[in-house]
Amino acid sequence: MSNITFSMIKPDAVEAGNSGAILKMIEEAGFKIQAMKKLWLTRERAGQFYEVHKERPFYGDLCEYMSSGPIIAFVAEKDNAVADFRELIGATNPQEAAEGTIRKLFAKDISANAIHGSDSDENAAIEAGFFFSRLERF
Ligand code: UDP
Ligand code: MG
Repeated sequence: MSNITFSMIKPDAVEAGNSGAILKMIEEAGFKIQAMKKLWLTRERAGQFYEVHKERPFYGDLCEYMSSGPIIAFVAEKDNAVADFRELIGATNPQEAAEGTIRKLFAKDISANAIHGSDSDENAAIEAGFFFSRLERF
């Protein structure tokens, strides 16, 4: 069991001004933010991040959407981080997400669903490494 997960607050939630409320829920659930940055993905970089989905019918729209505005990328730490974070964010489709989950509260639809969460320890490490080289000291 690893103790980090990678997440992005997606363009719909950043644009709607919900990033503060979402981060509050994440901290109240016991996660510590290890690293964080706001950035605007190019279409190409969104495509690289979601490469695993490139054969899926929604891939093109997903890449357009994820590059449509700024996101907030971060690494969060907690025991059992990946599974606990997935539970906190809820199902991919907000109509199927449990009450009180981030996607139930803030997602617009199955595409613009407010937040990303890694689905395994292996992918958490890969995804964190996509955005962050290490925990930076200044
Ligand atoms: N997605 C979509 N349509 C779908 C399934 C997924 O637009 O039918 C988008 C949605 O933004 C989702 C992302 O693609 O968060 C990645 O899909 P995945 O199945 O990995 O869902 P997640 O792990 O984010 O819950
Ligand atoms: Mg996924």
